[in-house]
Amino acid sequence: MFWTGELIARNAPVRRRAARPPRVERALAAYLGLAIGDALGATVEFMTPQEIRTQYGVHDEIRGGGWLRLKAGQVTDDTTMSLALGDAILGVGRVDALAAAHAFDAWMRGKPVDIGNTVRRNLIAFRRSGDPQAPASEHDAGNGAAMRILPVALATCGQPPETVISACRAQAHVTHHNTVSDAACETLVFMVQDFLLGGDALTVERERAGRLVGDFPVFTWDRKPVENPSGYIVDTIQAVFQSLFATECFEDCLIDVVNRGGDADTTGAIAGMLAGARYGLADIPKRWLRNLDETTRARCEKQAEALLQLSGSC
Ligand code: MN
Ligand code: MN
Repeated sequence: MFWTGELIARNAPVRRRAARPPRVERALAAYLGLAIGDALGATVEFMTPQEIRTQYGVHDEIRGGGWLRLKAGQVTDDTTMSLALGDAILGVGRVDALAAAHAFDAWMRGKPVDIGNTVRRNLIAFRRSGDPQAPASEHDAGNGAAMRILPVALATCGQPPETVISACRAQAHVTHHNTVSDAACETLVFMVQDFLLGGDALTVERERAGRLVGDFPVFTWDRKPVENPSGYIVDTIQAVFQSLFATECFEDCLIDVVNRGGDADTTGAIAGMLAGARYGLADIPKRWLRNLDETTRARCEKQAEALLQLSGSC
């Protein structure tokens, strides 16, 4: 009897999940990539490349620590604000500024491990005014709206460009009402959508990154690696684009960007989102997927599918 059971077990048909469409695989990879980049980069946030080399050689493992003293696999505001936004979008069935503002406010009350100054200031202003649109400010060009933009990209995939742009601005302006931030947010959203729809990197670079630089020359980047990228959206985008377009797999892209130090959890998150959408789930190293916080991983997966479904494009 013993070995009969073994035989049955060995011959039992392998139960596989039904194959998911490539677009869904890429959406999952984008969300998991965002969280992995955040968890990986947070360890070296605010360090210089030299400090990283001294301490780790090459930082390429999800190991926690850093100035926030994180557990291995724990994520920060980049991922948790994205998840708050995703829940708000799914709650009302569309991208809505007021729902996003309430979700971010509730997130802030939950005492997140980190929070940007612009986010805090404008959420406190929202509590007083009830207006989910922060006043326009040329100073609010941090990367805080861009780091949490993924749910918008998924929820509006395949929709007309005007719809995509107004959804981008609705979520971004809750805390960052700034034309340079807007340009970056819109570019990131269109890039994610291009990749989900099967676009190749050369075309995406030429058409999306190229247009951003054409419209806002401040984003122009060259080959000289941006080190210590600050929280200024221009620094962030330049570092991310250099890493994304100079590498040919998810792992190399993320290692390249986080070892630049600076705002490494955020460059990691944005690069992880784009590289996930570009390369898909199969290209994400298993050790990183395993080390990501389990609850976070489950929430990212669930939202990715639900948001894409909401877009009507799958
Ligand atoms: Mn963060
Ligand atoms: Mn950061």
